[in-house]
Amino acid sequence: MPQPQSGVHFLQIPGPTNVPERVLRAIDRATMDHRGPAFAPLTREIQELIRPVFATAGPVVIYPASGTGAWEAALVNTLSPGDRVLMAETGWFASLWSKLAGRLGLEVEILPGDWRHGVDPEAIAARLEADAGRTIKAVAIVHNETSTGVTSRVAEVRAAIDRAGHPALFLVDTISSLASIDYRHDEWGVDVTVGGSQKGLMLPPGLAFNAVSNKALAASRTAKLPRSYWAWDEMLESNRDGYFPYTPATNMLYGLREALHMLHEEGLPNVFARHARHGEATRRAVRGWGLEILALDPREYSNTLTALLVPEGSDADALRATILEHFDMSLGTGLGKLKGKVFRIGHLGSFNDLMLAGTLCGVQMGLELVGIPHGDGVSPALAYLATEGAPALAGV
Ligand SMILES: *Cc1c(COP(=O)(O)O)cnc(C)c1O
Repeated sequence: MPQPQSGVHFLQIPGPTNVPERVLRAIDRATMDHRGPAFAPLTREIQELIRPVFATAGPVVIYPASGTGAWEAALVNTLSPGDRVLMAETGWFASLWSKLAGRLGLEVEILPGDWRHGVDPEAIAARLEADAGRTIKAVAIVHNETSTGVTSRVAEVRAAIDRAGHPALFLVDTISSLASIDYRHDEWGVDVTVGGSQKGLMLPPGLAFNAVSNKALAASRTAKLPRSYWAWDEMLESNRDGYFPYTPATNMLYGLREALHMLHEEGLPNVFARHARHGEATRRAVRGWGLEILALDPREYSNTLTALLVPEGSDADALRATILEHFDMSLGTGLGKLKGKVFRIGHLGSFNDLMLAGTLCGVQMGLELVGIPHGDGVSPALAYLATEGAPALAGV
């Protein structure tokens, strides 16, 4: 058992992330009548504020659910039993989504991967070109694979689908990249974008999203997988008047409105630049420690989390347990086949330079305590933060 600690707990897992005070205060209000007249303006304001976050002019469906619900919604609204779905094994989350698709009665074809690379656009193009009968109905990928710290190049996957001239729907999970890493639903021709509240959106777990293209809407009119709770049609119809077909998570919506205001006040390009800077500083720390970044292709380094390998013979979970016990910091565990070999540093959401500095210090002290040989990673990271594009604070 960790000792009781004073000061703040460092929640440096790659989601759920730290919820800012402003969002906590916004949620901490009396529950309102979700069928009353004051509710519709809230729904409309959220719809206005959330579209730019997905970079879409189209509708964004909001479910009271974890991200997994939005995975299911994306599939059941657009596909029919036995439809073929092409997926890519980028890691734990891609594997879970493919398992879910199989359980729904879809025919899943998975491009194998080594959990150290993102989706290979060439492999997608080759597979689609070979699909002369156009039996593949959807390509479904994870933008930012949270188990490995690898970000796939979605625009290049879109270009690959276009090169093959293939009509498949394009479904993308952005649960750990949305509002942290540049993402463009409309421009990249994505048909359903899947999101969740508890990562870049700085909210507690409990809301999940589908941004929906016109092509996806058209597909939903003929798709035959059974759906009720997840059905877009009733949701979109109610949303048009500012309401929901069933009770929405009203207090979470207050929080969502506040989080969206915060993102727009900072400016989305600044939000993306902040995450890029913290990603780079973290990678400099890893190199200083002499440890290995799991992601192998620098084009695919994730700016929301870094997964790193501990040396052969060391146990990443023992390191995490020591850091929790001594310094009250939670780091992400290795998932699936990476268990014990990898730990993950989350650097996304409501986060700043000194929080990252504290995080990296905690890791370095943990390495010292468990006796993993290491160099100094903190100094190069701090030197980078101090000199490279340190952001001016608003109002200073
Ligand atoms: C967190 C996460 C999920 C799962 O979301 P839940 O809210 O736990 O259901 C799915 N995909 C990715 C990429 C994630 O990071």
